[in-house]
Amino acid sequence: MAKQDDQFKNVISHAKEYGYIFQSSEIYDGLSAVYDYGQNGAELKKNIREYWWKSMVQMHENIVGIDAAIFMHPTTWKASGHVDAFNDPLIDNKDSKKRFRADVLIEDHAEKIYQKAQKEIEKARAKYGDAFNEEEFKATNTRVKDYLAKNREILERMARSLETENLADVKALIEELEIADPDTGSKNWTDVRQFNLMFGTKLGAEAANAMDLYLRPETAQGIFVNFLNVQKTGRMKVPFGIAQTGKAFRNEIVARQFIFRMREFEQMEMQFFVRPGEEMKYYEYWKETRLKWHLSLGLGKENYRFHDHEKLAHYANAAADIEFNFPFGFKELEGIHSRTDFDLKAHEEHSGKKLQYFDPELNENYVPYVVETSVGLDRMFLAVFSTSLKEETLEDGSTRTVLSLPAVLAPTKAAVLPLVKKDGLPDVARQIIEDLKWDFNVAYDEKDAVGRRYRRQDALGTPFCITVDHQTLEDQTVTIRHRDTMAQDRVAISELRGIINDEVSVRNWLLKMK
Ligand code: ATP
Repeated sequence: MAKQDDQFKNVISHAKEYGYIFQSSEIYDGLSAVYDYGQNGAELKKNIREYWWKSMVQMHENIVGIDAAIFMHPTTWKASGHVDAFNDPLIDNKDSKKRFRADVLIEDHAEKIYQKAQKEIEKARAKYGDAFNEEEFKATNTRVKDYLAKNREILERMARSLETENLADVKALIEELEIADPDTGSKNWTDVRQFNLMFGTKLGAEAANAMDLYLRPETAQGIFVNFLNVQKTGRMKVPFGIAQTGKAFRNEIVARQFIFRMREFEQMEMQFFVRPGEEMKYYEYWKETRLKWHLSLGLGKENYRFHDHEKLAHYANAAADIEFNFPFGFKELEGIHSRTDFDLKAHEEHSGKKLQYFDPELNENYVPYVVETSVGLDRMFLAVFSTSLKEETLEDGSTRTVLSLPAVLAPTKAAVLPLVKKDGLPDVARQIIEDLKWDFNVAYDEKDAVGRRYRRQDALGTPFCITVDHQTLEDQTVTIRHRDTMAQDRVAISELRGIINDEVSVRNWLLKMK
């Protein structure tokens, strides 16, 4: 655990030191769970957003993108169920005065039991080698069976209690499991209460006539209320999707995990409208397709797993999360939900307007069913950033810090470095930048010895360093150094654009999804 904590601390301090993420309003001591993206963070975030957008919108003829407003008519949130049901169960520790999400305390406890089973499985795998049959082991080993059954039993009981609003039982479960405040060990808990996560605000100058609004807690509703606008003007035929990226706001009860859980964050969502009865087919399709998208970034297959929901949201008939192995363990990165016709029907009822589709093949009108994919951009950022940050020991025993970001996402694609600040080398370096900047973000760096400059670019995550030396003046060649292997090649200046493009083009990365 201590190692994990240290790793996470490194991630946070590296993100600050290299201009990726700053605490919001830092000069006023910051604002809890609100962060600003710095000069490099803004680029990385934009590149992740673009990588998502291209894979969803550009690569699918039947998906289009919109950009709806953050403010929406307040009835939207009544219809969607957020006013009545967008709550988290909170619990306070009376000794430490710290507030927790009751469901998260229980989930973390259940996860620890699950990890015990995993440990036994890994031990047996190491012992039996190729002959190991995991399924058989899970079904026959009493200790593993007990752990897994306990894990399931806890999660199922919690899901049942939350579904029936039996908050007393949620507290009873915490007490029975002897869950303690993770920081202080105290088990002195208050009752569990529900807390609505929406931020309210007012529209209009005069207090008396001002309209109560909410900052949107999800981007999805902006898509639902525009369903017919897009379908009609885009002449879209079911099945089709509407994608959107944008800010969402939630007054999270506990927000102590850096950009994993923020009060202002960004979502990348896609709602896929299908014929009623076909939703499960598309639900499976999108689960698989979204996982492929994640895997295409090369962060390691072992870092992802699916988690099917025990407790379904009020709108869903199937739901799964893609969980990622963050520095603090496996947690939700993306949700894939089969939302039925709940949202469109609710908006029909509350607005009095029909939100139906005429299916020319079936010759009938219906309210489409919806499959949603919803990923947090900031969580994606954290997944990419934390997995990429590495301390490496080199052959000569020295160490280096490298941020091996997927090249397609790196803020700066290449740094151009004159070996020395004289003999006309800086001018040649500038010319190379003049040529490359039309296609890529490139940086110039002439300060310090070239070895130190390489290290700086490694820590920044720049995939290439291009060094201009005296030979360049004679034969128009430069050395190009690869961040991950540190290999250096001598190449002609005219080849640079092609070499960089091969490694950073969205096309080449998305092709890995095939
Ligand atoms: P959690 O259970 O972690 O609170 P959720 O199930 O409420 O998440 P959804 O409503 O499914 O999340 O939202 C879709 C995605 O939006 C999540 O998978 C996550 O990536 C992102 N997200 C949700 N809440 C936050 C937050 N407070 N900060 C950053 N990202 C968030």
